[in-house]
Amino acid sequence: MRRPLVAGNWKMHGTRASVAELINGLRKQVLPVSVEIAVFPTCLHVAQVLDGLQGVHVEVGAQDCAVDPVQGALTGEIAASQLQDAGCAMVLVGHSERRLLLGETDADVVRKFAAVQSCGLIPLLCVGETLEQREAGKTLAVVGAQLASVIDVLGVDVFARAVIAYEPVWAIGSGLTASPEQAQQVHAAIRAQLAVQSVEVACAVRVLYGGSVKAANAAELFGMPDIDGGLVGGASLNADEFGAICRAAGS
Ligand code: PEP
Repeated sequence: MRRPLVAGNWKMHGTRASVAELINGLRKQVLPVSVEIAVFPTCLHVAQVLDGLQGVHVEVGAQDCAVDPVQGALTGEIAASQLQDAGCAMVLVGHSERRLLLGETDADVVRKFAAVQSCGLIPLLCVGETLEQREAGKTLAVVGAQLASVIDVLGVDVFARAVIAYEPVWAIGSGLTASPEQAQQVHAAIRAQLAVQSVEVACAVRVLYGGSVKAANAAELFGMPDIDGGLVGGASLNADEFGAICRAAGS
């Protein structure tokens, strides 16, 4: 039985004041203990969130890290070892905004994935196709290649200590959501790809869906057999909405 996970990606949002408000809102939520919950603020706000959510069962993660796990001379970057020291439990790797807007390659993503694990943290690997790729019938090939880039270099067993998020790029921040059936098809393909090398890893790994998840569509998505929760962007900035999504994952 896989424990559902709901992860809130706060992206490049927040001031000390708005983060304090969000923390207060989250503290008021009834959050199901059966669901693992994590939020990913900017690195500037990680300490504030850890402090503000003490005693609440919400973990804190980072949105990215350097390819090198060890701190050193790399202006502007943050090493996974520093994130671990700061109290982060997880790190997003390969978010489509980084792949497409910042030119992050599969090779970068693999190095970041390895860096995160080498520091004892959990990588949350994001994969997903653009609208153009979906319309060309390439969804499974694109997602399969993104997943294979990690498996080929690091082996399938690394997914025993990782989470995967399927996030169709066309559904991110657009208000468009993949239908539960569309998402399930890709989630099942991800699990099948892992199962070729390890049925045990394939059955145990959590595969989240991300792309305009909200309280209104969460239960339907999370009800699919291979969807183990969600990676939530915009809706995670509203504590009541995020709380409702977490409760949908627990029902
Ligand atoms: C995301 O950025 O990971 C995401 C899923 O965003 P949104 O929920 O806003 O579509």
